[in-house]
Amino acid sequence: MEELKEVENLLKLGDQYKIIKIEERDEKKRLKKIIYVESKNKKAKCPSCDNYTRSIHDKLKPIELKYLKIFEQDSKISIIKKRFICHVCNKKFTEKLDLNQKGKTISNKLEQKILKDLLNYNLSIKYIANVNDVSSGIVRNILKNAMSEYPEQLRLLPRVISFDEFKADTDYGKYSFIVNDLIHRKALDVLPSRKKIPNTILYVL
Ligand SMILES: [Zn+2]
Repeated sequence: MEELKEVENLLKLGDQYKIIKIEERDEKKRLKKIIYVESKNKKAKCPSCDNYTRSIHDKLKPIELKYLKIFEQDSKISIIKKRFICHVCNKKFTEKLDLNQKGKTISNKLEQKILKDLLNYNLSIKYIANVNDVSSGIVRNILKNAMSEYPEQLRLLPRVISFDEFKADTDYGKYSFIVNDLIHRKALDVLPSRKKIPNTILYVL
């Protein structure tokens, strides 16, 4: 029981989930912790008629998602999703959870960790893949997706840039940060602060 509590704190899964049990499994010569999780959701909103229902129709087969390391050990979350049935419109639907993106076998938390590792220029893709127990292809895809959200001029910065701060009250302070293409006299981006803001990533190649 004590291990369960400890793991629960480490995982930072959020209040929506409860851990049912923890097991260890040998996979490709790495001993992994498998954490069996269910949501605490007792009701869900029907996606077709917006009414709430408390009727659980059935449960789906468990899916496994790669998760963060626990005490230096790889871990996977095994989650059983519930399927609700709406008695107003008779629709059956699966509960919405925030653990992963549709069709992905790695959790959002691990994806964020990989993004953080990618910001460290001393780490190779191969190293990041190995330390996070995923393939190099997955790491490259995460990098590619993160880059695609950035405008062209930020992905391919000009040879000369200038930056400055100007007064503007934002959630992050009194000054905003502007990046200019000095030669073409163009503003490339305005950021809310010159300081690093968690969860924002600026890639400079
Ligand atoms: Zn409905």
